[in-house]
This record gives sequence, C-alpha cells and structure tokens, in this order.
Amino acid sequence: MAGILVYALHSDEGEFNNNSLGAISEAAKLAGEVGGDAAALVVGDVDDATAAGLGKYGAAKVYRASSAPEGLAQPIVDAMAKVITDEGFSYALFGGGLLGFEIGAGLTARLGAGVTMEVTAVKADGGKLIAERPVLQDSAIVDVGYVSEPGIIIGRLNAFDAQESGGGDAEVVDVDVELSEWSTKATMVTRGESGDEGGVNIEDADILVGAGRGLGGPENLNVAEELAGALGGAVASTRAIVDAGWTPYATQIGQTGKTVAPKLYLAAGISGAIQHKVGMQSSENILAVNKDPNAPVFEFADLGVVGDLHKILPKLTEAIKAKKGG
Ligand SMILES: Cc1cc2nc3c(=O)[nH]c(=O)nc-3n(C[C@H](O)[C@H](O)[C@H](O)COP(=O)(O)OP(=O)(O)OC[C@H]3O[C@@H](n4cnc5c(N)ncnc54)[C@H](O)[C@@H]3O)c2cc1C
Repeated sequence: MAGILVYALHSDEGEFNNNSLGAISEAAKLAGEVGGDAAALVVGDVDDATAAGLGKYGAAKVYRASSAPEGLAQPIVDAMAKVITDEGFSYALFGGGLLGFEIGAGLTARLGAGVTMEVTAVKADGGKLIAERPVLQDSAIVDVGYVSEPGIIIGRLNAFDAQESGGGDAEVVDVDVELSEWSTKATMVTRGESGDEGGVNIEDADILVGAGRGLGGPENLNVAEELAGALGGAVASTRAIVDAGWTPYATQIGQTGKTVAPKLYLAAGISGAIQHKVGMQSSENILAVNKDPNAPVFEFADLGVVGDLHKILPKLTEAIKAKKGG
C-alpha cells in the first residue's frame, strides 16, 4: 500500500503537537494523489480514543508502537522503519522541530532513503510528491523530487496548518516493535516544555512582540512584555539579546533559532538582519518600530514606525488596554 506515514508527537498529557497535526492534515490532502492513505504513528502510552482521534485530521490508520518511549529519537526510528517497510509506505512526513529532524535523519540513514529538510510546502506531480524547500537564505525555492521510495520529508516548523478534515475515528493498529540494542541506551528521565513566555508558546502565539538590542538592556524587557501582555501575545527575541543573556534561547527567532508565522510580528528595536528575517518573514503582518529610518527591517515591514520604542511602546500598550476596556 502506497501512502504517507506521519509521526505524531504527544505530550505526557496526551495532547498532540500542533506541527504533527499539521503534517497529518497535509498528508491527508496529498495521500490520494500518491494512491494511498494518510496514516500516523504514535509511540508510548496513548489510549485508544486519543489515537483514534487523529482521524479528525485525516489519518485513516494510526499505528501504535507502545514499546517505544515518546521523546527519544532512536526508538521512534525503529518504529517508523518497521511500519514503513512492513506496510510499504511511499513517504514519511514530519512536521518539523528538533525531534522530527533527528528521527527523520535517522530514518533516512536506516532506510537508505532520500530526505528533504526545512520543507515549506509539498505538492504532488504524476503520482509522486515534490517537496518545496527555500534555499540561499530563503531568497529562492527549489522543488525536490525523489528517485526512490520511501521519500522522507521534514517540514519547517509551522509550515503545515492543522485542519480538521471532518473524518471520523481512525483505525488503531498495534505494532510490535523490537527496539535495536542502541535504541535503548538512552532513557527518558523527564519531559518538559521550554519556550513558554507568560503561558504562551512562541511557536503557537498569534501575536509576537520581537525584542531586539534597541531595548537597551534587560531591565527594559518589561516594555515589550507589557505590550505582549496587552495584545495577548508573547515576547520573542533576536540572537543579539539571547547571546547577551537577556532572554532564553527558547525565544530566539531566526536562522539559528525558531521559525514563526504569527498573525502579527511587532519588531521592537530590531535591525532586521537576514538571519533574523528568515525566522519571521512568513508572519502575516510585520510592524517595526526603530529609531533608524534606514534600518533594514523597514524593507520588509508592512508598517514601519520611525521613533524611540521607549516612547512608542508604552503608549501603544496603554491605547490597547484602553480599547480593551482596561
Ligand atoms: C551564523 C549567524 C547566525 C545568526 N542567527 C541569528 C538568529 O537566529 N536570530 C537573530 O536574531 N540573529 C541571528 N544572527 C545575528 C544577526 O546577524 C544580528 O546580529 C542580530 O539579529 C541583531 O539583533 P538586533 O536586531 O537585536 O540588534 P542590532 O542589530 O544591534 O539592532 C538594534 C536596532 O535597534 C534600534 N534601536 C536602538 N535604540 C532604539 C530605540 N530606543 N528605539 C527604537 N529602535 C532602537 C537600532 O536602530 C537598531 O536597528 C546570526 C548571525 C550569524 C553570523
């Protein structure tokens, strides 16, 4: 059976990761074009109803490998490799994120497959999938096809939207996976989330206030935090302020940080270096506040305000609070 297999990451509370749900939705849209179904693989402790619920996003079947622990790449490589080989899947699709990259790379080596990383879109042509991948610091997109099966496709974070397809429960199939000897060398001690600012994960936030060196120092971060709080969003960072120790790495946007695509990205005191731009340029609306009218950020901002952020941001925060009724 040809088809697309997606690895669906879940938290200890049984909630599926949004990028995984996006990958299942994407697979469901494309599976018919390659003559098969979209299916998901879950590992660890997932109850029947939770696993079957992935049908809502378009998974026809959910393979459950309970012997593989969640969160460690190698056991999941074992499980993905077994299901792909036994069931004859043509493609494996990952939603992105560090674990997806690690599993995807391991799976590629294990199966001698072809892999495309940082994929932002997937299309079908002549019964085969083509992955679209930005290159040259996102200034061009290349189409990547596969000369053999399976093809491994690893999405960029937030590349695929999680959409309910209107489907019912997926069929849940338990698979026995014998873990490789090396896969059991590492054990999971504890799992936790980082990157939650004020309870909002920056990758999921609809509104981000990007904080840059123009804030002047860590003591001024509250200016950005208060604005983000008034907007119901979160604070993201440039590498300059992460390297300076003002904010944690989990909030860094850019080439060596996270990729985000919120509805609004408000860049405050950010110059707009290419390495930052590649992480936020897909935002729906980009608003920049910078005192330098020649700052590169104004070249790609939808709306630019030239001025001192210390004057503008507090006024904006007050205005938003007033509009929201205090
Ligand atoms: C290999 C490599 C990877 C990198 N990866 C990343 C990455 O992932 N993410 C990333 O962000 N960077 C990355 N960088 C660094 C990047 O090149 C820039 O140095 C960085 O993004 C600059 O951060 P910034 O905009 O906060 O600071 P700056 O470039 O110093 O800009 C500060 C801006 O604030 C403005 N400003 C100052 N005071 C005020 C004020 N009172 N009001 C309003 N505006 C004010 C200034 O006009 C200026 O434009 C990378 C660099 C390299 C070489």
